[in-house]
Amino acid sequence: MHRAVVALTFLPAFLHGATRAAEIPIEAVRLSDEVLVLRSGPMDNNAVVVATSAGLVVVDTDLSPGIAERLREVIEEQLGRSDYACVINTHHHVDHVGGNQAFPEAEIVGHESCAEGMRGIAATLPATVAYFLQSAGQIRSQLEPLDPESERARELAGKLATMETVARDFAERMRVTPPARTFADRLSLDMGDTTVELYRFGHAHEVSDTLVHVPEDGVLMVGDVYDAGFIPYFFQGRDWEADRWLEVLDEILDGDPDLAHVVPGHGALMSREDLVARRDYIRALWEGVPKDREAGLSLPETLARHPFSGFPAFAHLLASDEVQKVHRNNVRYLWNRDIKSVAYTLEEVLLASGEQAALEKLAGISSDESGFYSEELEFLDSARFLEGRGARLEAAALLRLAAGVYPDSAKIREALRGLESSE
Ligand SMILES: [Zn+2]
Repeated sequence: MHRAVVALTFLPAFLHGATRAAEIPIEAVRLSDEVLVLRSGPMDNNAVVVATSAGLVVVDTDLSPGIAERLREVIEEQLGRSDYACVINTHHHVDHVGGNQAFPEAEIVGHESCAEGMRGIAATLPATVAYFLQSAGQIRSQLEPLDPESERARELAGKLATMETVARDFAERMRVTPPARTFADRLSLDMGDTTVELYRFGHAHEVSDTLVHVPEDGVLMVGDVYDAGFIPYFFQGRDWEADRWLEVLDEILDGDPDLAHVVPGHGALMSREDLVARRDYIRALWEGVPKDREAGLSLPETLARHPFSGFPAFAHLLASDEVQKVHRNNVRYLWNRDIKSVAYTLEEVLLASGEQAALEKLAGISSDESGFYSEELEFLDSARFLEGRGARLEAAALLRLAAGVYPDSAKIREALRGLESSE
């Protein structure tokens, strides 16, 4: 931890040069005259701008103030105006709120748990700086032998500028800027010719998950609750509020037959049909699996009644072993909510009693697995959770245990390297 602070004070000299922010690539996708999606950053984030008669509404601000300043330039080029009225955060993770401070004239709006969640961000910045500096170094060495005019070189240069901007922002000028206006359950923003509806979604990706619906424009922002390339999941042992998810999705889908665009926090845009497929999947498992169990079906029988191939809307994901595995875990988890997650159990032991106790717990579980299940994604999720709370040593310890359970996992190795390189 201590060395991470020193690393911040002595940023490499190349980062102190002229600003690279102008080279950050931003892809602008126009959904209508009023709605603009801006894709940017190292994590392929989607920020959305809605032009209303009461000013511009921006949903999510990417990772850092430097990226958000570039977003502003593109917004102003595309829409010819700069009357920012309001910034809405879909949840409290840094890749969605990191640029908030670049909109000082706008009112920041988010769920009441968003501000509290953002308090953990400052503690994670040093590790992220170290990670981006390391990645920037790798990109620079890939870039060196290339013809600077080639397409590949330009793409890498854009990535490099983005990473260097984020590293410098995090080290030097990031001010965590939480929502000034919060809500508990629902909030309706009257923006003159447009109404913006905010819904507390209920814990899915995060406790602060907020859906942002603009019925006049047929657009819905879902943050990191859904992703075009994945199915919903239940198996993480958090406090799911799936009854609430279904209530909110029903209300939005039933109330807006013209909903055309569903914008996730990252990656490819989705459609109304994609959202319907996710709602129907959740309902089929959340309501169907416990009924099967009550009717006396065994777990294998219940799994056989809910094959992944029974959801034709996800036919394009049938070939993915990872998705298939998550589907089976969804059914297993809903069939028996008493089964405990190895990752979350170790997380609790680490926080309460330290690494040695967690190691012994894992040895105990390995010799008698009944009552437990293990999921690689949960170890990664739990490590992020610990890191977000500032428990970086525990996060690294958890990933070391995970590396023992999943010796071939590149994702776990990479996450561990990111944490250890800044310790
Ligand atoms: Zn995200």
